[in-house]
Amino acid sequence: MAISGTTHKVGLIGWPVGHSFSPEIHNAAFSYCQLDYVYVPLPVEPDQLGLAVQGLSALGFSGANVTIPHKIAVMEYLDVIDATARLAGAVNTIVVQQGKLIGYNTDARGFITALEQNGFAVQGKRVLLLGAGGAARAVLAGLAGSGVELVVVAARQADQAQQLVELFPTVSVKSVLWSSPAFQQEVGQADFIIQATPIGMYPHCEAMPPLPIAQLKPAAVVCDLIYNPVTTKLLEQSAAAGHPVLSGLSMLVEQAALAFEYWIGQAAPRQTMGQAARKLVLKNSILLTKNK
Ligand code: NAP
Repeated sequence: MAISGTTHKVGLIGWPVGHSFSPEIHNAAFSYCQLDYVYVPLPVEPDQLGLAVQGLSALGFSGANVTIPHKIAVMEYLDVIDATARLAGAVNTIVVQQGKLIGYNTDARGFITALEQNGFAVQGKRVLLLGAGGAARAVLAGLAGSGVELVVVAARQADQAQQLVELFPTVSVKSVLWSSPAFQQEVGQADFIIQATPIGMYPHCEAMPPLPIAQLKPAAVVCDLIYNPVTTKLLEQSAAAGHPVLSGLSMLVEQAALAFEYWIGQAAPRQTMGQAARKLVLKNSILLTKNK
């Protein structure tokens, strides 16, 4: 659809934003739904963040996504922040509603919905969460209220894992040091492993988190938040050992689909968005390999 003066605008606020998959995923969705919308990258330097966010309404934007490094800092410029975004400690989606800026976190719900859509239920289950960074916190925010039995956060820095645990007083959660014997015990008891570190991400595709797959329960589900590559070494080896697996691509698509639904108010074309994302992962890996 041709861009005109009446085209609705959605932006991606980050610094830098050149490598993001979001513009192509969202523009593919707008095009498929024949919506007069456009999604534009908006590189914003950190010291300009407040001005840029306040300008969204004046410029007639319907909303925006927010990415690294602004997901936390952006919160102080918003009028309303929903409960999940507060728990996640970060906003990745802004909706402009009658001049007010409302902040959401679709990573948190995106992860849980991706699990559900792939037939996995965490209710009453024990989860071992690897990593204690921003993505791990979003996953924990998503797990809060899911009826999960226990979440064990494993990190290489004990204080980092413990800090995360303390942010979730209403969830049954504890921390272990990744290198400790207690970690080895947790591995054998977990129903879900959720890998939330960058270990194994492109171009370091041969890297594996130190997880003894042979010690997992036979039915344990292994999820990796990494989406590039779509199938990490961890997922490849877990699947080979007979475990159900879930790639981070499902979460990537779902967080985008939920943002689309906040802005547009209609069901997102998940299949189209998934196809666009897969194509980008492939294109991106080929480009990076050529440039090595
Ligand atoms: P982050 O905030 O930098 O946190 C990374 C975490 O991993 C930290 O706890 C870090 O610990 C740990 N870590 C890093 N390298 C490690 C290693 N070699 N051994 C043990 N722990 C290690 O990053 P993030 O934003 O949480 O992102 C994590 C991953 O999730 C990335 O691969 C990202 O692409 C992915 N992600 C995917 C989606 C999706 O939609 N699928 C969404 C968000 C994020 P230290 O502080 O000790 O380094």
